[in-house]
Amino acid sequence: MLITNAKLATWQPDQPLLADHAVLIKAGLVHSLGPSDELSELAGTDEVLDAGGQLLMPGNICAHTHFYGAFARGLAIPGQPPADFPAILRKLWWPLDKSLNAEAVRYSALVCLVDAIKHGTTTLIDHHASPNAIDGSLDWLAQAVDESGLRAVLCYEVTDRDGPERAQAGMQENLRFLERCRSERPADGRLAAAFGLHASLTLTDTTLAACRELAPADTAFHVHVAEHEADQYDSLARSGQRVVERLHEFGLVNQYSILAHCIHIDAAEMRLIEQAGSWVSHQPRSNMNNGVGAADIEGMQRLGIPVCLGNDGFSNAMWQEWKAAYLLHKIWHRDPRRASGALVAQMAIGNNARLAGQFFRQAPLGVIEPGALADLILVDYQPTTPLTAGNLPWHILFGFEPSMVTATMVAGKLLMKDRRLLTLDEAEISARAKELAADVWQRYPSFVPADEPPSIVENEEQA
Ligand SMILES: [Zn+2]
Repeated sequence: MLITNAKLATWQPDQPLLADHAVLIKAGLVHSLGPSDELSELAGTDEVLDAGGQLLMPGNICAHTHFYGAFARGLAIPGQPPADFPAILRKLWWPLDKSLNAEAVRYSALVCLVDAIKHGTTTLIDHHASPNAIDGSLDWLAQAVDESGLRAVLCYEVTDRDGPERAQAGMQENLRFLERCRSERPADGRLAAAFGLHASLTLTDTTLAACRELAPADTAFHVHVAEHEADQYDSLARSGQRVVERLHEFGLVNQYSILAHCIHIDAAEMRLIEQAGSWVSHQPRSNMNNGVGAADIEGMQRLGIPVCLGNDGFSNAMWQEWKAAYLLHKIWHRDPRRASGALVAQMAIGNNARLAGQFFRQAPLGVIEPGALADLILVDYQPTTPLTAGNLPWHILFGFEPSMVTATMVAGKLLMKDRRLLTLDEAEISARAKELAADVWQRYPSFVPADEPPSIVENEEQA
């Protein structure tokens, strides 16, 4: 395919925006780029897509999401509103994930994938939980991702919160899917696997040790870290160590690992993360929603930790997450110099692409250059002030809207053209999702605990 008459934002360092340019795509990769008139001759009989002057950019990447949370939208939490993040887990997320069956898992993913295509997010790193439907759940997600045409990294969150049998089942689900991705290369290499762990506060030493022992050496562990102080208090009570130290001692903090949130970590933990070469993902909308604080993204970056941007199950319109990151740190520190546009772009563009690149090693992604994966979006943005490659992050922060995405392509295949979805049937998915969500909402209250347990540690000891 040849995309002509586009304004290219290649995200290559020091490369200006390239007006009236074309990109030739062959075998899922960017073959070449150049002025539209020059490249037209190269295309031969290839299909031509006239971009009409729109911006052509690499698709967005999401470093941490939860497809399974899709049915939470509009759900009423019974009883007293949760007063803190541990209560949100007990009253919302844990009863909700227990209410999911196979079809609900599949459709919650499809709902998110529709949203991702419409808003130009082409790679998603998911963290899944469905304690009453564990075995095979990553295959159901994989099937949905395959149908959508998007690119995704999947894992199942191992936890001891539902007893040793389900912890064991979670481990096996991760191992099975890791092996499947290694041996089968599902969805033509658009699917990859990590090893999911919920968080230190719901994982026993026995389970942590088993996860490390069973997983291959180069496994990426994807785990929530110190999203709330409770994770630290729990870890100190269990082990005398802080969360990152505890996970590190079990060999789970490595160069591939994704540590989501890292809000309540100290300097020594940051140093450990930096030395291990792990990734941190930042989810500002979720952090604000849960009232858990703001991670020291600038300190971590300065220390050399690659901080990435995820959405934690909020909408897959990643520019909204850019805006939240940009605003949160200014108000949190009462300093408008915090979280500059350049820093947010570094997280969302450079770091997210490098993180995704460790799972999809066949070709570079997150840039437009010959040989890169053709994961591209068209954006109908009409700037009213001068637009350059240098100030593009600030145009994204102050001018872009997710609805401006008109076309989404992954591996050279169009998934949306002129805002029309080509792989997924949105009307069918929305209709069926609504029915399934209603069923999930019916089951959900039966899993909501009546009384607040005194603490997660004591609760687990009873289990
Ligand atoms: Zn999360």
